[in-house]
Amino acid sequence: MPKNSETITTKECHDCGQSGKLFIKWVCPEWCSINHGVLLCDECCSVHLSLGRHISQIKSFKRSYWPPNQLNLIHELSSNGANLVWEYGLLDPQNKVPRKKPSAKDALPIKADFIRTKYQQMAYINRLKDETNGTFEDLHLQLHSIARTDNVVTCLRFLSQGADPNFKNPETGTSSVHVAASRGQQNQIELLCIFGGDPAAVDSSGMSPEEHARINGYFDL
Ligand SMILES: [Zn+2]
Repeated sequence: MPKNSETITTKECHDCGQSGKLFIKWVCPEWCSINHGVLLCDECCSVHLSLGRHISQIKSFKRSYWPPNQLNLIHELSSNGANLVWEYGLLDPQNKVPRKKPSAKDALPIKADFIRTKYQQMAYINRLKDETNGTFEDLHLQLHSIARTDNVVTCLRFLSQGADPNFKNPETGTSSVHVAASRGQQNQIELLCIFGGDPAAVDSSGMSPEEHARINGYFDL
């Protein structure tokens, strides 16, 4: 989170560009989709809510309770290009899906079409070229590798492509949540759990992510 002395960051709605208001030290839209890491204006939020929580998990900067770790994660994601994970295909001339992004002045049905295409159909994500079981196993293992770093946007990209946060490495018996915990990567743990990662899972030695964190000196996770 920005400190008091830092410049207030100005952010716009990631779906239509509507400018924001001042909330918790940011000038940003009121709403956020926590499983996409994007900020939303009132209108775009109403469309996200209509999609259902299985598609978009909405919180309000004004009204919702924010555990500090979750707020920190959203700051990291929204400030570091999480939206590009969901709009990758907008820049790809090969993509056959309509590529025009709405503006703040466009009518709600135009915004709604775009939002459904972007999040429900996930028509703009960078899909795996070859969606076979072997390719997915590689992807799950890539998730393990990125979970030990602080790169939450790449982690989000792997999750958007179908990486399983509970996949256990056949050699170590650990999940990506264990890996993130053993490296003290709080944001990664938070993100993996939003995508269904189990914080209480045990590895092949019967150890939980919390125990992995402790034996590596991370007592605050
Ligand atoms: Zn909007």
